[in-house]
Amino acid sequence: MAPVFLALAALGSATGTPYPANRLAAVDPAFERVAEIRERPIAAQAKPTRSRYSVTIPLDPVVRGTPQPRILGPKGRPLVVIDAGHGGHDPGTISPHGGTKEKNVVLSVAKRIRDELLASGRVRVALTREDDTFLILRERTAIARNLGAKLFISVHADSAGEQATGSTIYTLSEVASDREAHALAQRENRADILNGVNLSGESNDVTSILVDLAQRETMAASLEFAKLVRRESAPLVPFRAGGLRMAGLAVLKAPDMPAILLELGYLSNREDAARIRSVDGQKNIAIGLRRAVEIHFAKQMATR
Ligand SMILES: [Zn+2]
Repeated sequence: MAPVFLALAALGSATGTPYPANRLAAVDPAFERVAEIRERPIAAQAKPTRSRYSVTIPLDPVVRGTPQPRILGPKGRPLVVIDAGHGGHDPGTISPHGGTKEKNVVLSVAKRIRDELLASGRVRVALTREDDTFLILRERTAIARNLGAKLFISVHADSAGEQATGSTIYTLSEVASDREAHALAQRENRADILNGVNLSGESNDVTSILVDLAQRETMAASLEFAKLVRRESAPLVPFRAGGLRMAGLAVLKAPDMPAILLELGYLSNREDAARIRSVDGQKNIAIGLRRAVEIHFAKQMATR
């Protein structure tokens, strides 16, 4: 395994293409932080349990200046990070039925999920943002990884004309499973493109190889969790046909942390918008997730 390890380590260091730090820093403080990351690529070792291989991959280091969100819940419990999408100058999608902004409604739902999870007493919970703050996609995953999250749940709401309804759970795919999933990935990944500068910069062959090696187990665990969410939520929350999809979503790309992106439904549809806004609708979403999270960690304890 040693030659593979070294070869990949070399590939990893080759991905550290520096950004023009001075120019970007002058534009926005957020760029400065990204520039710091790009100038100091570090190699962290990913060692999933029961892994048969060893691989070195470039991971984002601690993002200096990123707010460290508070962690709530009993010590020693696994940490779940809930990520409310968008925020600040990025409203996400805006409902034609009442003008609800995605960034606001997903924050309410994220807090509802947090409270439901905390009430169970089985996990600790942190939110990537607790107010109307803008975070780039990379920061969201970095926050969760820095806190040592064992599960990452990103919450969004979609938009696609009046007809489309129901929730969808997305897990990571390097190749989006259909055209619609691809379009979704384009929409949700847009938060990394600011003032015309694309900050994602990782969709190259090297990343594909590394993702394929290091993320296999994480992707499988993510899919298992997504299925649990669908099963446990099905009596409470309407799903689109199938309910599960894959897409190349940047926010799901942490290689060592199972992650899903939950699209709560369509703000473009009148009933969905009303459901997502309502207290009952939000509670139902939270209860489904709480049940799935409990089973997910109970299973892990059982197989340990
Ligand atoms: Zn969104």
